[in-house]
Amino acid sequence: MTFDNLGLSADLLATVAREGYTEPTPVQSAAIPLIMAGRDILAAAQTGTGKTAAFVLPILENLRHHGNAGFSPARHPVRVLILTPTRELAVQVSEAVKTYGRGVPLRSAVVYGGTRIDPEIKMLWNGVEILVATPGRLLDHIGQRSVNLSAVEILVLDEADRMLDMGFIPDVRKIIASIPAKRQTLLFSATFSDDIRQMAGEFLTNPETVEVAARNSIADNLTQVLYPVDTERKADLLLHLIKRDQMEQVLVFTRSKLGASRLASYLDRRGVSTSAIHGDRSQPERTRALAAFKGRFVKVLVATDVASRGLDIEDLPYVVNFELPNDPQDYIHRIGRTGRAGASGTAISLVSPDEVEELRGVQRLLRKAIPYAVVEEFLPDPDREPAPARRYDGRSGARTFTGRGRSGQARPAYAASGR
Ligand code: AMP
Repeated sequence: MTFDNLGLSADLLATVAREGYTEPTPVQSAAIPLIMAGRDILAAAQTGTGKTAAFVLPILENLRHHGNAGFSPARHPVRVLILTPTRELAVQVSEAVKTYGRGVPLRSAVVYGGTRIDPEIKMLWNGVEILVATPGRLLDHIGQRSVNLSAVEILVLDEADRMLDMGFIPDVRKIIASIPAKRQTLLFSATFSDDIRQMAGEFLTNPETVEVAARNSIADNLTQVLYPVDTERKADLLLHLIKRDQMEQVLVFTRSKLGASRLASYLDRRGVSTSAIHGDRSQPERTRALAAFKGRFVKVLVATDVASRGLDIEDLPYVVNFELPNDPQDYIHRIGRTGRAGASGTAISLVSPDEVEELRGVQRLLRKAIPYAVVEEFLPDPDREPAPARRYDGRSGARTFTGRGRSGQARPAYAASGR
């Protein structure tokens, strides 16, 4: 399959070629013709599958005839509304709209919370055809009448599963009440849970389902490995791995905001340049941290799940789960940041004996055990009894981590030395 068969015009094909895309990804091949035909779609696609181009390209194609150079804002009503759960994703999608839409005379803008609203209001008054927004901020604009959504023709709900998780559905419902019922709606979600199907029933009309990869599948070129380690030695082990494997760009996930800040300053103090991105940091701080990481001014970016959602960092070689997430789905979202678009990647999990339950959940979802590696001096201390020793891996044939160090082995040296 090539892009030429999808019905896109020559200038969009040229843009795609300029981006270096040689062939459409599976979600693009499946979704682009359906969207161009005006269908509602319910698509299962996670970040990294090329889903953004899968909806942005056909939208640009279908709406290009509205392009005009008129000065009057009335000539530039909002025709496309793209809702995303997080500010970072909103910014990324809006960048994609600008990149892919370079040759198309449609205006686009992005609005999201955590920044001053006045400049957004001015921008909206000038008129934009494509608006990317987080739900809360868009509701503020609707409340202040700084935006008029009565001409919306296409609604995109991006990462709808995360909007659900974050409790945005009542907001989405309110927003949908102010756009025309006769519209095209595109819903993208990493997974199809019952809740997502219910949401699709409520917001979509006779949708076509696009499900390209098997549910919960992960990229083939992604290596997963876990290291058993006591909680309090995780930071040391991470430092050791970064140095040992000469890691240059590492995205590390922690469960809490505090954990993210602490780990970032721990690594930074030890000479590994690190920044953190989490909900307590202001939007400019987050943007700066992300830019520093993308620009390779810092080696490590520590993030919480919510803050990391939708981060698009090309060719990311390493993702580290400093702690396993409570929700196994988040494991899939996290490791989806590496091994993208054919590049190889490694997803490392540092697992302490008291995370056996979380690990079991992840492995159940993956339907396989994650292979594990051992760094001798960081094996969990067998004399500690933080949690009952439990087996998590009876199926893989790999060695079994019981939470007690390597079974039958003497205590590691550091234990004897009174550590
Ligand atoms: P997304 O899933 O939309 O976050 O896209 C993930 C990454 O894949 C982005 O960096 C895109 O630039 C890239 N991408 C999108 N479509 C293609 C394609 N057809 N070939 C290669 N890379 C692509």
